[in-house]
Amino acid sequence: MKAEVIELTKKRLEHLRELGVEGFAIRVQETPVVPRISETTETFERIHAEIGDCTRCPLHQERTHVVHTEGNRKARLMFVGEAPGADEDAQARPFVGRAGQLLTKIIEAIGMKREDVLIGNVNRCRPPGNRAPMPDEAATCKPFLLREIAVAQPEVIVVLGNTATKNLLDTREGITRIRGTFQDYQGIKVMPTFHPAYLLRDPSKKRETWEDLKKVRDYLDNR
Ligand code: URA
Repeated sequence: MKAEVIELTKKRLEHLRELGVEGFAIRVQETPVVPRISETTETFERIHAEIGDCTRCPLHQERTHVVHTEGNRKARLMFVGEAPGADEDAQARPFVGRAGQLLTKIIEAIGMKREDVLIGNVNRCRPPGNRAPMPDEAATCKPFLLREIAVAQPEVIVVLGNTATKNLLDTREGITRIRGTFQDYQGIKVMPTFHPAYLLRDPSKKRETWEDLKKVRDYLDNR
């Protein structure tokens, strides 16, 4: 097929030369086209079935439940955290403990309901003592999150805290440097902001988080 097109193009160009055409002006498209993540026929059900009773990384040893992404699978907005804590591990649902209750308030503060959005984590099993997942643990689990993002195609992803930001964006930049500025993941806008667990420890950071979320609200309102 490719060879046929080349052959046909050559013939056309020879014909044009015979007609006296000596050159072409080439116009380069100036606006870069940001590639959207490719469409997929995959489903959350299939992804969750494949995860199954996962033993791919050491975190399975102490977990009670695998905690999957939950919420509206056609959501315009998604939140991504680090990994389940004790409450999430017990209930098999993301962000249901104290940090989760604050996240629900943050969602409501921008005029949405928890059921409107999608909520997930880089890791689906609780790290012992709520430590941050190790890089190899995150690398093992992250592909499932990326596949869910490809299915849901949210317009904006809010990454909560350092671990989620570094993992989704594949960056070494810390949250304090890049929070509040839109980043890109495969053509999807990504807003890094503070993790709600951090806000519980330092409530003075709520004002900045509110500013970050207002930018998300404005972006969604003006699309
Ligand atoms: N912290 C997270 O990062 N995720 C949860 O699901 C709960 C707390």
